[in-house]
Amino acid sequence: MPKGIYRVPVAINEPVKSYLPGSPERKELQAMLAQLRSKEADIPMYIGGQEVRSGTKTRLAPPHDHQHTLGYFHKSDKSHVSQAIEAALAAKQKWAALSWEHRASIFLKAAELIAGPYRAEINAATMLGQSKNVFQAEIDSACESADFLRFNVQYMAEIYAEQPLSSPGIWNRLEWRPLEGFVYALSPFNFTAIAANLPTSCALMGNVVVWKPSNTQVYAAAVLMRVFIEAGVPAGVINLVYPSGPEAAEVIFGHRDFAGIHFTGSTEVFQNIWKTIGNNIHNYRSYPRIVGETGGKDFIMAHASADPKTVAVALARGAFEYQGQKCSAASRAYIPASIWEAVKGFVLADLQDMKMGPTEDFTNFVNAVIDEKSFDKLAGYIEAAKQCADVEIIAGGGCDKSKGYFIEPTIIVTKDPAHVTMREELFGPVLAIYVYDDNRFEETLELVDSTSMYALTGAILSQDRYAIELATAKLSNAAGNFYINDKCTGAVVGQQPFGGGRGSGTNDKAGAKINLLRWVSPRTIKETLTPPTDYRYPFLQPD
Ligand code: NAD
Repeated sequence: MPKGIYRVPVAINEPVKSYLPGSPERKELQAMLAQLRSKEADIPMYIGGQEVRSGTKTRLAPPHDHQHTLGYFHKSDKSHVSQAIEAALAAKQKWAALSWEHRASIFLKAAELIAGPYRAEINAATMLGQSKNVFQAEIDSACESADFLRFNVQYMAEIYAEQPLSSPGIWNRLEWRPLEGFVYALSPFNFTAIAANLPTSCALMGNVVVWKPSNTQVYAAAVLMRVFIEAGVPAGVINLVYPSGPEAAEVIFGHRDFAGIHFTGSTEVFQNIWKTIGNNIHNYRSYPRIVGETGGKDFIMAHASADPKTVAVALARGAFEYQGQKCSAASRAYIPASIWEAVKGFVLADLQDMKMGPTEDFTNFVNAVIDEKSFDKLAGYIEAAKQCADVEIIAGGGCDKSKGYFIEPTIIVTKDPAHVTMREELFGPVLAIYVYDDNRFEETLELVDSTSMYALTGAILSQDRYAIELATAKLSNAAGNFYINDKCTGAVVGQQPFGGGRGSGTNDKAGAKINLLRWVSPRTIKETLTPPTDYRYPFLQPD
């Protein structure tokens, strides 16, 4: 039991290293890349603190070099999911009872390990397994992972400090209990930091977790799991398994002790999960918490007053960093006719300059998309666009999967603001642009608001304050993260809490106190210090 009201270290964002030629971090990372490439990893599940190997293995390969084998992970079946649930429930009582400062210490240590001794490995694993260039890996797997862990500890302390008023003779308290049962963390391929955050944010608040990462992120997820164990996460508190999504769903959502899901991934998968949970609602001990951050069709809206070069840079970085595979990536843009030629000139020049290739060559800005399924889907959309009379491809359009899953950064200009590429999340390096009449700024804002089902991120670029104010008001519900004179990507934990509404999710803001509140069920305790000894109230006395 704590014998003090402890103050946790003030969280600050992990500084991003530069990886300049000759820098120590670049040398260390290059050595780690070579080391990881030179061996084949054998990645187990982690259930109840034990490494579990099923013998049924799935091969892992760099998306930019799919003939190279990075290693194998051991597939889980339904029995492993059941074992993971049992291990979590067995660990629950002790973990929930552990004083909060010890939970804080464990996750603060995990942040130190990621920022320090594991930095090169977690970055190299992300560069090889998910085809992120060094900068994208650094801001994600090293810095954002450490940020989530440190800021969440701070938010936990702030939540615990939130207590109700007390009146004379009475002491009121709030006890921030973990949920009854276990939480399922289901993470996507595109951010190692999300894989770090989904299970740990729940565990930090005293919950026990079954964690399933995306198959295409297992390589870095396994590094995270080793970090959690070294940091002192006890056996059974976080259990890492690799079943198919539907198989896991059958076991998990059918379990009486299912207490919540922390999901990040596509909208369709989330909606099906929600439906399944709804169908099973009579079976649960309590109403499960459903937290999901999902897809986006994120926009850049330029006003005629915007600086064309600024617009072009926002487009180039916002749409093509990490091959457009960020939920926040700009995938549709609205440019006024008066500045379009200038914007086009700048952005085409930037694209010509961008090199595409493997992540191990640090001069490449663009790398491969995650897998063959994604490649084929994107190639299909690009091919369809080539056949469509309403659109013109002004950059890219080339696709080649002979060595890696490479799709050229592609810009589609469409005369149809409702074209499929303006509406649907393609999740790749494809940007659709609609050029609008300068006089139709306000109508175009309405188009931005109504064209897609998503509302994750968006940006207004303008030097006219009235236009900025109008766009901010008209697009009030069009994005959960709204940017003024910036690209629509790159949210930082502790600075821009992240999440969207409408079809983009429950907007429970990853990396914010709001999110942690979903993983607790408060108990109000009223203690009367001098309880009454007579049932009669004073008014009962006769006149
Ligand atoms: P995905 O939906 O394919 O997969 C997410 C997780 O769900 C994975 O672990 C996957 O194995 C699992 N899954 C897949 N099909 C399933 C099924 N039928 N039943 C149960 N589980 C299943 O998403 P992804 O391709 O890994 O990630 C990309 C998506 O995630 C994009 O839509 C992107 O916008 C979104 N995303 C959103 C945010 C955000 O904060 N809003 C952040 C990152 C990614």
